[in-house]
Amino acid sequence: MTFEELGLSPEVLSAVQDAGYQTPTPIQTQAVPYVLMGRDVLGCAQTGTGKTASFTLPMIDILHSGRARARMPRSLILEPTRELATQVAENFEKYGKNHPLSMALLIGGVSLVEQEKRLDRGVDVLIATPGRLLDLFGRGRILLADTKILVIDESDRMLDMGFMPDVERIVGLLPRSRQTLFFSATMPPEIRRLADKFLSSPKEISVSPPATAAETVSQAVVSAPSLPKDKRAVLRELLRQDDVTSALIFCNRKRDVGILYRSLARHGLPAAELHGDLAQPVREQTLKRFKDGEVKLLVCSDVAARGLDLPKVSHVFNFDVPGNPEDYIHRIGRTGRAGRSGQAFMLATRDDRKALAAIQSMLGHPIKKCTPGESETAQDAPDPAPVEEAARESRTRDTKARESKARTGEARNGKGRRSRRHGEAEATGEKSPPGTERPARSEPTRSPQPKPAATAFGDHVPAFLLRQTPVPPAA
Ligand code: AMP
Repeated sequence: MTFEELGLSPEVLSAVQDAGYQTPTPIQTQAVPYVLMGRDVLGCAQTGTGKTASFTLPMIDILHSGRARARMPRSLILEPTRELATQVAENFEKYGKNHPLSMALLIGGVSLVEQEKRLDRGVDVLIATPGRLLDLFGRGRILLADTKILVIDESDRMLDMGFMPDVERIVGLLPRSRQTLFFSATMPPEIRRLADKFLSSPKEISVSPPATAAETVSQAVVSAPSLPKDKRAVLRELLRQDDVTSALIFCNRKRDVGILYRSLARHGLPAAELHGDLAQPVREQTLKRFKDGEVKLLVCSDVAARGLDLPKVSHVFNFDVPGNPEDYIHRIGRTGRAGRSGQAFMLATRDDRKALAAIQSMLGHPIKKCTPGESETAQDAPDPAPVEEAARESRTRDTKARESKARTGEARNGKGRRSRRHGEAEATGEKSPPGTERPARSEPTRSPQPKPAATAFGDHVPAFLLRQTPVPPAA
């Protein structure tokens, strides 16, 4: 199938050609003709599949005829985060460059005055986050009675973030006779229920089974110690792999994003941080620096990074195992986009066994296990159930060996068990333990590790942390 066969106008085709796209992606092939026909669409598509163009391209042609009236947008696209909304707006500009369509972006954190002025002039396309939209609606600055096309993007994320009540309210303000396009990376029952409520006889499109990781991403799980600063040492080891050119590093909590970012910066790694507590201009500037390659490592939270189109990300690191398995899919979907290959590493401590088992069960296969510096010799991790059993057995069998190893580690660290238990409190004032830190190396170190007796999830101290290394520079 070619773009010409999808029924798009010559103007849109010319913009697509200028964007450098040769052939439509599967979601575009399937969705565009139905959107052009005016049908409702329920699209289940994983990230990086070209989903945005699948609705923006036909919308541009549909909106081409007709005129916008003051404060009455003709179409509305709801996005869960400001970054995604901005990204969709950029797509509209790119694909709609041969059409005189007007667009407004309503997102929190930026001045209302400019947004209101745009609305007053009349807009064809309104791209908004639910909160800011309801805010303006409440002030009487916007009317949705003439909005004939509604796009609800990243619906599962809207649900996770607690936006669905707002979305339901907004949908209630729109005319009943409208076209609705509903997209979600995953299709849990609650999303299905909402789709049934919002859509009318939709064309269902699924370009990959729900909750499937992109095939272009190679995944690995790395055994990590529970103590945060030791875990950060494992991460740094991974980050020093030669092929890490641009990486996203996910933490589960905003607070930990800041801690990890500061730690990486202290160790001379070119990092920046991105999370929801940062001011919008700072978030935008950080993203730009990352996209421009000024900073190589972006430590982020799920909310800030969801759905971002960052084509050059070579690696995704899950510093924390996400509690929600679907977040794992979203996170690793930040790499391996548009057919490129990517690598995803996840640091798992013994406390993460349950969450890891849930992810593996959702994937339907175990994630490969690897040791830092030996990623190409990755071996298959055992199934979650045997993992637990093996870990139990190993705990009994290896207690003595582990205790002696731990004692060695403590002796090297100069810290005892007591300080280990208070690891998190130490985190912000971290100083590298002797023997764990090195300056960036010119060649990756291979650590000839014996195959662990049990699993990736015991509380053993990884051998590479115990290796004798040159005296580090001051942290
Ligand atoms: P999305 O899933 O919408 O975030 O798109 C992911 C990436 O794929 C973006 O960088 C798009 O610019 C790119 N893209 C979208 N459609 C195509 C296409 N037909 N051919 C090549 N790249 C595309």
